[in-house]
Amino acid sequence: MATIINGKELAQKIRLELKEEVADLKQKGIQPRLAVIMIGNDGASSVYVRNKSKACDEIGIAFEEFLLKEETTEEELLDLIENLNERQDVHGILLQSPIPKHLDIREAFNAISYKKDVDGFHPINVGKLAIGEECFVSCTPSGVMRMLEEYNIETQGKNAVVIGRSNIVGRPLAQLLINSNATVTVCHSKTQNIAEITKKADIVVAALGKPKFVTEDMVKEGAAVIDVGINRNEEGKLVGDVDFENVEKKASYITPVPGGVGPMTIAMLMSNVIRAAKKEN
Ligand code: NAP
Repeated sequence: MATIINGKELAQKIRLELKEEVADLKQKGIQPRLAVIMIGNDGASSVYVRNKSKACDEIGIAFEEFLLKEETTEEELLDLIENLNERQDVHGILLQSPIPKHLDIREAFNAISYKKDVDGFHPINVGKLAIGEECFVSCTPSGVMRMLEEYNIETQGKNAVVIGRSNIVGRPLAQLLINSNATVTVCHSKTQNIAEITKKADIVVAALGKPKFVTEDMVKEGAAVIDVGINRNEEGKLVGDVDFENVEKKASYITPVPGGVGPMTIAMLMSNVIRAAKKEN
């Protein structure tokens, strides 16, 4: 039976550490501040933003929310970003996606100063990650790496397979794993015989958004299995991309959904805001 990686508990521990860091910063006269831009009325986004706001409150990070109307123009959005880039008291800027279709999300992400890009989406940060330099890294992949570290799951010389190649999860995670000396294979929707590839993996990360995609027969005995997926099953219950009940019997480590990678994502965002306030990048 696998050891269950408790993301909820680990995230709470990290949040307590971060709270102390914020207290130290405040003593030096620095109040870390995150600005969040949300455009239009997306139900799921409102929940995510509320969770981020709660986490900021708990840790002592100032949270400033900009709720823009659905009809916001490109110019208005870019003006706001420019204004936030210039404000000395704002350390992190986050644009909550999705944004309305008439706006160019890439252009908006590119407009955020890379020094305040706590989501790690700016091309400068993406490029720095690719060449192994210090930078802001997308929060979910950072959370996965932190879990591996905290549970002493060796990456050096190991075969790691990432299923999914999105810009926010799969690709940055593959880069982080390469930077930590793993041998990395990235699978996607056009990959043939995924099971043959995952069966050779010491670490399998599922980040594709398909319930129960990773089954017991796809996993090597003793592999570490990280489930990034967040899906709703037929009963409306939150489930990951891994067939947890069966894979758990074969893996050495496994993350549950919920309570696995999810809570780590917000903890890593908080950590990035504090790094931005310390001007570490
Ligand atoms: P995404 O942008 O939709 O990307 C999905 C990736 O999976 C794509 O690269 C796609 O391949 C690949 N894929 C889809 N079907 C596949 C299949 N049958 N076989 C192999 N690969 C397949 O999704 P995302 O934003 O990366 O998110 C992935 C999952 O993680 C979602 O369930 C999402 O809700 C969850 N998520 C969780 C967190 C968290 O905090 N825990 C954060 C972000 C996302 P192609 O590139 O070929 O299309």
